[in-house]
Amino acid sequence: MFTKQEILDALAMPWPAFQAAFAAPAKAAWRARGDVMQGVAMIGFSNVCRNQCLYCGMRAGNTALPRYRLTASQVRELAQGARQQGFGRLFLISGEDPRHNFAPLLEMVAAAAGMGLRLTLACGEYEPAQYQELKAAGAAEYVVKFEMSNPASFNRLNPSTSFAARMAAIEAVQRSGMLLASGNIIDWPGQTLDELAEDILLTARLQVSWAPVVPYLPAANTPLAQEGGRGSVELALREIALLRLMLPQADITGGQPGEDMRNGFSDRQGNLNALAAGANVLFADLLPAPLADDFRVTDHRAVQGLAHLQEMAALSGMQLRLD
Ligand code: SF4
Repeated sequence: MFTKQEILDALAMPWPAFQAAFAAPAKAAWRARGDVMQGVAMIGFSNVCRNQCLYCGMRAGNTALPRYRLTASQVRELAQGARQQGFGRLFLISGEDPRHNFAPLLEMVAAAAGMGLRLTLACGEYEPAQYQELKAAGAAEYVVKFEMSNPASFNRLNPSTSFAARMAAIEAVQRSGMLLASGNIIDWPGQTLDELAEDILLTARLQVSWAPVVPYLPAANTPLAQEGGRGSVELALREIALLRLMLPQADITGGQPGEDMRNGFSDRQGNLNALAAGANVLFADLLPAPLADDFRVTDHRAVQGLAHLQEMAALSGMQLRLD
């Protein structure tokens, strides 16, 4: 575990020095564990959300976004497709829509678990008993991002909930027996390095199974997009390396953007840089194209399919694993 001052120094040092002191050792640590790139199939099964997070393109106030909800049987079909492609892990993600989502979600989880898929969910804040139901239905892991560890910043940027409620949800997931995935948004407009260091420390303290960390990317029709542009890709690489050294076994998102936003989270160089800094997870989007365009947490979200994962494995020299 690094101290806060060590993290602050690492975030501020020149990039070549950071690479030698942190990024290279982080990659070496992952190599020592077999250098596996984990491919995960992903289905954004609904983009309906009741919340108003200031940074998110799927916030309820974005009336320009066409909305959709897939049925449990549509998700079952897509999950079968994932199985046929060889995927053993499935990530089901949606906006926070608990009144409509919960019953179908239980059905989706039971069906996919019945196919032998290991399931990760990210569907927002539920009651503690509901996390237990999801665990009982077969879910292995649940994502509740704390987004920002500073309570005042969280409460301003996430006005539909509170930092206390978010941390309570995180504890409820841990108590449910599901693995906890959590993390932050990196370099949102106005974030200080001090706040980022605290975010990194909180991610490590939570001992997350997966750190779904990405730099802030603006989304059209959102209040935060008026306050500033995209976050630093380089700061994201620094966080990835620091987390790899603090959480040697955790999954860390390698689906990172590059400097050219048009390639979204499947940017070749962005992905390769993240994998070289110690990240290990890439997603394959199973949503049909028109719906994938509407699963718009950020603009330019583009996530590609299995062929992209195979290409990244070949270019990075990592061993691609889908099970
Ligand atoms: S970040 Fe999640 S909870 Fe917040 S508006 Fe977007 S989809 Fe809804």
